[in-house]
Amino acid sequence: MDREKREIRKRIGKLVDPCRVTRGKKFRLKEFDPGDTGGLGSDQKPAARELLEKGIRWLAEEQDKLYAQDRHSLLLLFQAMDAAGKDGTIRHVMSGVNPQGCQVFSFKQPSMEELDHDYLWRCQKCLPERGRIGIFNRSYYEEVLVVRAHPELLGRQKLPPGLVTKGIWKERLDDIAGFERYLGRQGTTVLKFFLHVSRKEQKRRFLERLDQPEKNWKFSPADIGERGYWDDYMAAYEDAIRRTASREAPWFVVPADNKWYTRLVVVAAIVEALWKLDLAYPGIDAARRKEIAAARRSLMLEKR
Ligand code: ATP
Ligand code: MG
Repeated sequence: MDREKREIRKRIGKLVDPCRVTRGKKFRLKEFDPGDTGGLGSDQKPAARELLEKGIRWLAEEQDKLYAQDRHSLLLLFQAMDAAGKDGTIRHVMSGVNPQGCQVFSFKQPSMEELDHDYLWRCQKCLPERGRIGIFNRSYYEEVLVVRAHPELLGRQKLPPGLVTKGIWKERLDDIAGFERYLGRQGTTVLKFFLHVSRKEQKRRFLERLDQPEKNWKFSPADIGERGYWDDYMAAYEDAIRRTASREAPWFVVPADNKWYTRLVVVAAIVEALWKLDLAYPGIDAARRKEIAAARRSLMLEKR
């Protein structure tokens, strides 16, 4: 690796390291500040924007190799409270990549058909093929977040009553960790992003949605109601991260009170993970080289 690349990797690492959780045991959400900007002041915003743009270009380069190689796949999963900036962050991540190799799925309240299956069913159908990047805007984690904050939702899931015990959240989190381990062993790299916005900043963004007519469409009265469950959600996030963070499927707790910083960290984490895969265009063997030479000769011989 040349010096410049090493230097860039170091810079990227510095951004991502504080957010990465690979061992849940010691994880405490309160140690993570939603307002953190990694020591970058607002005067460094232009430099941050430049790095973000570079990151998006590197992401595109790596995606091209991922697609050509057709071995690995990447699953990016986004969870957050409302107005934390999931949509905007996903838009940025997507802005440089080839749409053919990337798919976004949003998971809302489950339909009647979905409720007739186990909860992983609808997500499993949307997993990325080899060579692809899959993005989940919300995911099976809702089953241990919103459903945990509102346990009455379990009633709609038609589970045999004997299976609904006090241990259900731990069981679900064990199953999720097992599922992600399985994906890793199948060549899918799973990266999980929690966009960590503060309650105060959420209020500011909600007020903005109410005050600006062009943002009114984003407002939903139910979102205000969910603020009343804030602490339940935070406790559920903490437990989910504690029980499912691993080296193979890390969580990234991304400060989300400053959108420019959120996007930079997310793109940096994705680029870093792709670099670690050490992707390369598939090599060609002697027979294929001959074929290419023959095709070239035949084209050159054509008169028009
Ligand atoms: P935005 O508000 O930015 O458009 P969103 O992801 O919040 O995006 P909404 O349609 O507002 O989309 O909300 C989807 C809702 O569906 C969320 O409140 C989420 O908690 C809920 N949801 C998702 N999965 C489940 C699930 N498995 N069980 C119950 N509720 C779920
Ligand atoms: Mg919403």
